[in-house]
Amino acid sequence: MGDRQPADSYDVAILGGGLAGLTLGIQLKQARPETSIFIAEKRKGLAPEAAFKVGESTVEVSAHYFADVVGAREHMDRDELHKFGLRWWFPAAGNTSIAERIERGINKPLPEPSYQLDRGRFENYLGDRALEVGVDRFGDCRVQDVSIGDPHVIRVTYQGEDREVRARWVVDAAGRSFLLKRKLDLLEENGHVVNSAWFRLDGGLDIESWADSDDEEFFSRMSERGLRQYSTNHLCGQGYWVWMIPLSSGPISIGIVADPRFHPYEEMKTLDGALDWIRRHEPQLGESLDGRIDQVEDFLKVSDFSYGCKQCFDGSGRWSLVGEAGAFLDPFYSPGSDFIAISNTLSTDLICRYLDGEDVSERARAFDDLYLNTYRVNLTQYEGQYEFWQNAMVMTVKICANNILYWGTECLLFFHDKYADLEFMASVRPDLERIWAITRRLEAMYREWNALEDREWRRAIVPTQDFPGMFQRHVDMAGGFDDDGVRARLASTAELMEAFAVLAFSRAAVNLGDAAPGEDEKINPYAVSLDPSRWEADGLFDGSGLSLVEARETEAAGLQNLYLEAVATPAPSEPVS
Ligand SMILES: Cc1cc2nc3c(=O)[nH]c(=O)nc-3n(C[C@H](O)[C@H](O)[C@H](O)COP(=O)(O)OP(=O)(O)OC[C@H]3O[C@@H](n4cnc5c(N)ncnc54)[C@H](O)[C@@H]3O)c2cc1C
Repeated sequence: MGDRQPADSYDVAILGGGLAGLTLGIQLKQARPETSIFIAEKRKGLAPEAAFKVGESTVEVSAHYFADVVGAREHMDRDELHKFGLRWWFPAAGNTSIAERIERGINKPLPEPSYQLDRGRFENYLGDRALEVGVDRFGDCRVQDVSIGDPHVIRVTYQGEDREVRARWVVDAAGRSFLLKRKLDLLEENGHVVNSAWFRLDGGLDIESWADSDDEEFFSRMSERGLRQYSTNHLCGQGYWVWMIPLSSGPISIGIVADPRFHPYEEMKTLDGALDWIRRHEPQLGESLDGRIDQVEDFLKVSDFSYGCKQCFDGSGRWSLVGEAGAFLDPFYSPGSDFIAISNTLSTDLICRYLDGEDVSERARAFDDLYLNTYRVNLTQYEGQYEFWQNAMVMTVKICANNILYWGTECLLFFHDKYADLEFMASVRPDLERIWAITRRLEAMYREWNALEDREWRRAIVPTQDFPGMFQRHVDMAGGFDDDGVRARLASTAELMEAFAVLAFSRAAVNLGDAAPGEDEKINPYAVSLDPSRWEADGLFDGSGLSLVEARETEAAGLQNLYLEAVATPAPSEPVS
C-alpha cells in the first residue's frame, strides 16, 4: 500500500473489505466510474489461503454475480474449482457405508456452472481488482465509529493513526462486526437457532473413496467417476448436516451445522469434541480423519449465527447494509453469497441514482420490503426444520420444492437483472406471493409428515435432472427472456407449485389412511396440512385448487417418480426383540 493515504471525503464509504465490500466496490465503479469509493478493511496484508473464512460454496445466483456482474469469471475458471452441484446423503446402515445411503444430487453437470471458492485466494484477487478499477481500498484500516449525518463521518485507525473520512453514502459490509446494525438498533432475532464448527483438512478427501471400487451400482449412478468430490456434499442426520467442500488450494473444508435441540453445542465446540462427534454420527468420515490430525489446518466455530435485520436500505439516511452485516439465514443451500449479490445490486442502484440527484427514499423502502420478504420466505426452509433432516422421503420432496423456488424465482429474477426494476417487480408480486404462500404451507406440512412417516431407505440416487418441472427452471433461469417472458415463467412456476403442493400433500396423506382425500377431490394448495381437524376451517375442500388427477396432468407430473418407494430399497426391518 506504500504511503497512500485516504482522502478526506468520498462519495461512498464501504466499511469492511471482505467478500461483500470488495464486490460492491467493483460493481459500483463499473456502474458509475466517476464515483469515489473508500473501503476500510481492518486486516493487514494478504488473506491466507484455505484456512480463512467460510462461505466457500456458491450456487447459481452468486456464481453468476461473481463471474459475470463483478467480472471474475476468468479468475474463477482458472484459480477456483468448478463445483458439481449440491449433494445430500441421508442416513442408512448406521452411516458405515456411503453406497447404502440415499443420495440426492445431480448425476451429470448442470448447464449453469457454480464454483467452490477458496475465500482467501478469492478475496486477494478481489482486493487487487478493486484497486485496479480505482477503488480506494485500505488494509490495516479499522473503523472505530460512524456518525450518521450529512455527510457521514467515519473514524478509522489507519496504520496506527486515527483519522476521519467523510462520505455521502455509507455501506456496512463489516460482517458480524455489525457496525451500523448496533448503532441503529437494527438487529432482529429470527427464531432459528443453529451452531457450527469447522476445519480445513490438508490433502483433501474424496467421498467416493469410501465405497468399494467395484460397487458398480454406486458408480453407475453418475455419468463418470470422480465427480462427487467436487459437490458440496451434505451428510445429513436428524438435527444436523456436515459439509464437505473441496478447495482449489488443496485442502477440504469440513463443518458441522447442528440444531442444539438435538446436538448440544458443547459437544462440538472444541476440535477434539467435533472429531468425537463426527466419529459417533458420521463414522465413515470419522474413520477417514483418523491419523490425519496433523493435517488439520484450523478449527473455528460460531454459535446461534442466524439473525434478521429490521432494515437494510435507507434512501433518506443514505446508508445500506450488505452481506452478513444485514440478515443471515443458514448455509444449508449456500445462500450467503446470493444475499451478497442481491444486497449489493440493490445498493448499487440506490447509490448511483442518489449520486445522480434522485430522491431514492421510496425506492429504498420498496427494496427493503422485497429483500426482507425474500429473506423471510427463505427462512421458513430452515427454521424448526432440522428435526426432519434425516428423513430421506420428506427431504426429497422438500429439496425439490426449494429448488423450484430458487431457480424459478430468485435465479430467474437475478439472471434477468430484475431485482432493481421496481415497476416490473410490482407486476410479478402477485405470482411471487402465490409461490411464497405455498412454500410456507409446505414447510409446515413437512414437519407433520415426518411425525407420521420416518423410515430408512437404502441404495439409490434421486437425481435432480429426473424431475423435468424442476430441471426446466434451472435451464430457464439464464434463458434471456424479455419482460413478458420472465412474467410468463413466474406465472408458470406459481402454477407448478400449486400442482406440486397437491401431489406432495396426497403422497403425505397416504399416512392418514381412510381420512386421505380421494383422487378426484379438489384440493386447495394454499390450505394443505396433515391435520384433518383443521381441513374444513382452513378451506382445504373449498372447491378451489385441483384434484390429484388434474395435478398429474401438469408440469408437476413426474414428482411421483422421485418417491423413494419408486427408486430405493426399504431398510431391512428392525429385529423383533
Ligand atoms: C457456518 C457458516 C457456513 C457458511 N457457508 C457458506 C457457504 O457455503 N456459501 C455461502 O455463500 N455463504 C456461506 N456462509 C456465509 C458467508 O460466510 C457469508 O455470507 C460471507 O462470508 C459474508 O461476507 P461479508 O463480506 O458480508 O462478511 P466478511 O467476509 O466477514 O467480511 C467482513 C470484513 O469486514 C472486516 N471488518 C470487520 N470489522 C471491521 C472494522 N471495524 N473495520 C474495518 N474492517 C472490519 C473484516 O475483517 C472482514 O474482512 C456461511 C456462514 C456460516 C456462519
